[in-house]
Amino acid sequence: MSQRTFSIIKPDAVKKGHAGAILAEIEKAGFKIVSIKKVSISKAQAEGFYHVHAARPFFGELTEFMSSGPIFPMVLEKDNAIADLRKLMGATNPAQAEEGTIRKKFAASIGENAIHGSDAEETAAFEIGYFFAGYELK
Ligand code: GDP
Repeated sequence: MSQRTFSIIKPDAVKKGHAGAILAEIEKAGFKIVSIKKVSISKAQAEGFYHVHAARPFFGELTEFMSSGPIFPMVLEKDNAIADLRKLMGATNPAQAEEGTIRKKFAASIGENAIHGSDAEETAAFEIGYFFAGYELK
């Protein structure tokens, strides 16, 4: 069944000029880009997005990084989109990511790891709503 997920091309990848190559990987893997935009978010907005990680030791670093430059939030659609995007992204730490994954190709470290992807249906719904209004999702 067709499913939507939420993704972000993170500031490190945008800064290095990898946004186009990452989008190409995503489209090659069969995802339809339902919506996409380029935005810069504040630290407070990053904290709201990552609220589930508030107690983690890297929360400050993560939210500092995510507000350090432009990002491309996007909504993607395909069968099994949530799990398939996670597979295409690769492990959080690029040193452990499989060959051929986006993080293996484009990520530099566990923090600056090129791409975000929702990990479950409820998080996808929250994350889509955090960045996109209904009229942007036709
Ligand atoms: P993901 O689902 O693979 O993105 O990983 P998590 O949900 O565990 O963590 C969310 C994000 O926090 C990761 O994608 C990283 O950008 C960041 N992160 C995770 N672990 C660390 C860490 O040990 N140090 C830093 N600086 N950032 C981290």
